[in-house]
Amino acid sequence: MEITRTHSSTRPGPADWFTGQVWIDDIAAPPPPSRLHIVSVHFTPGARTAWHTHPIGQVLHVTEGVGLAQRRGAPPEIIRAGDTIRFEPGEEHWHGAAPEHFMTHLALHEHAEDGVATHWLPHVTDAEYHGGQ
Ligand code: MN
Repeated sequence: MEITRTHSSTRPGPADWFTGQVWIDDIAAPPPPSRLHIVSVHFTPGARTAWHTHPIGQVLHVTEGVGLAQRRGAPPEIIRAGDTIRFEPGEEHWHGAAPEHFMTHLALHEHAEDGVATHWLPHVTDAEYHGGQ
């Protein structure tokens, strides 16, 4: 058993992967054979991930606020505290805060055999964020 009471410092979300101000807290990344990685991601209003995929899929659990999530080919959908969202392996998507609300979610995903958990794609444009295609 291992209890972590003080986590590493909150780090900013890299501009290559996010639009707007995003802050990430690492929650857990157990050693092998586990491939699990859990982070808590704090999005300021209007901030969001770039488009991306996860080779093993992903589960999000919204812990605070109001946000948006979109998979390729469907309109953005509102997500709220208490909602749990699952993305299939390879499903192209993004997630972030609503325009006028903070949003925090736990993100749970596993690394593939090559150690990669996320494949990053282009940023979400303002038109896409606001519901355009
Ligand atoms: Mn994702």
